[in-house]
Amino acid sequence: MRESAKFRLGLTFDDVLLVPKYSDVRSRKDASTASRFSRNIPLSIPIVSANMDTVTESSMAIAMARLGGIGVIHRFLPLEVQVAEVAKVKRSESVVIEDPITLGAENTVKDAWDAIGEHSIGGIVIVDPRGKVVGLVTRRDITLERNLGRRLREVMTPKKDLVTAPRGVALEEAERLLHANKIEKLPLLDKEGRLAGLITSKDIMKRRQFPSATKDSKGRLRVAAAVGVKGDYVERAGRLLDAGADCLVVDIAHGHSSYAIDTLKEIKKKYGRGVEVVAGNVATSSGATDLIKAGADAVKVGVGAGSICVTRVVTGSGVPQLTAIIDAAEAAGGSDIPVIGDGGIRNPGDVTKALAAGASTVMIGSLFAGTEESPGPTILREGVRYKLTRGMASLAATVDRRMRENGKSAARESEVIEEVIQESVPEGVEGLIPYKGRVEEVVKELVGGLRSGMSYSGAHTIAELHQKAEFLRITSAGYKESLPHDIQKVV
Ligand code: IMP
Repeated sequence: MRESAKFRLGLTFDDVLLVPKYSDVRSRKDASTASRFSRNIPLSIPIVSANMDTVTESSMAIAMARLGGIGVIHRFLPLEVQVAEVAKVKRSESVVIEDPITLGAENTVKDAWDAIGEHSIGGIVIVDPRGKVVGLVTRRDITLERNLGRRLREVMTPKKDLVTAPRGVALEEAERLLHANKIEKLPLLDKEGRLAGLITSKDIMKRRQFPSATKDSKGRLRVAAAVGVKGDYVERAGRLLDAGADCLVVDIAHGHSSYAIDTLKEIKKKYGRGVEVVAGNVATSSGATDLIKAGADAVKVGVGAGSICVTRVVTGSGVPQLTAIIDAAEAAGGSDIPVIGDGGIRNPGDVTKALAAGASTVMIGSLFAGTEESPGPTILREGVRYKLTRGMASLAATVDRRMRENGKSAARESEVIEEVIQESVPEGVEGLIPYKGRVEEVVKELVGGLRSGMSYSGAHTIAELHQKAEFLRITSAGYKESLPHDIQKVV
């Protein structure tokens, strides 16, 4: 037998508890959940939504960033669509929208509706061919307009009636103008009257509503986007960065591989060392060390821990998640590179345990897949609402991807299924998750549990949690004792 057969013990969340410690954390509010997603991306809460096609597109990413976490837009979308999803997040709010969507006065009401729908915006500035502002069209102007062919010049608020401000106007002054004139949009003009930006009352309101939101230096919500290691990944990486992605995530099931390392280096070389790149997934100290050496700005940890994952069953490979995080975090210690604990979070207590083990954030898949903000419709079964979740290496996800890439119609689905079955064994499954409403509610529960968990460990900050946490391994009797027992549960 080889050295590796000395059977180190691998543990996961349910195998351990955190020992309660003396605490001077007087209120849950005194526990700061501030952390870092990657080297240069700070977060107010250590929560990341997973790059899965049933979890994170723009709607989830917007919600996560508003709450102080971050979302990673998955890569199983055509390039243009993934780029558009990133752009939607970046456009969703900002201090000043620097490149507002515009149309010409000769465009039609239909064009306006198309732009409003495509970019999820409330209004469009109308400009002449030289970029000079000639009017503004908002939803309100066209809501009851039956003639979709009508020219915008006939329905817009013309320049002479428009309230505008010079480029560089102070935010307080912009707010005063919006309020005093009871308007929602304030176009900013340069000296020649050309459009130089837009400030909206919605953005100002959002700043108040979500004071802990994860934002870039221009006040736009932050978002990450995943890329693979084959096909169009280099071009995709560039386009995602152009669209404003704050970070790329090199997403590969076995991230301790030449594929992941080469991709990471290639992206950094082509787009600059300053580009923030997370890499994964790994489950060992050497995996973390190698990715950090290759330039990773955070390491994503988890092989086989996901709720929809059958990697360990199919391949016999993996590391129980708590041990994986401890090993990777120990290797990353001193390098200033954060570890993301990816997969296997089922309860708020698991978040505290993952962070106590050394992770800076946790990535969450299925726990968010049942929420309003995840992609896809709700499904009604016997009066109960569900949403779908699936592993990205499940048969269904692989077939969908293949059909799209090869432009196959639904009629050819059985052929593609056969093809996929011949070539690979799925490492993921698909399933239904009860509908849970807005993701904010799930996040509240996770963060509430984390704050209490930090106080039990006597930790005011996540850095303190890393230092002070003491794990205790428990038996199955101890685990059983941890759950509600010997009662008939009411809820
Ligand atoms: P969850 O939060 O337990 O649902 O885990 C989510 C994580 O599972 C993702 O972020 C991925 O790392 C992982 N994952 C997603 N799809 C698959 C798959 O098909 N096989 C194995 N792991 C997967």
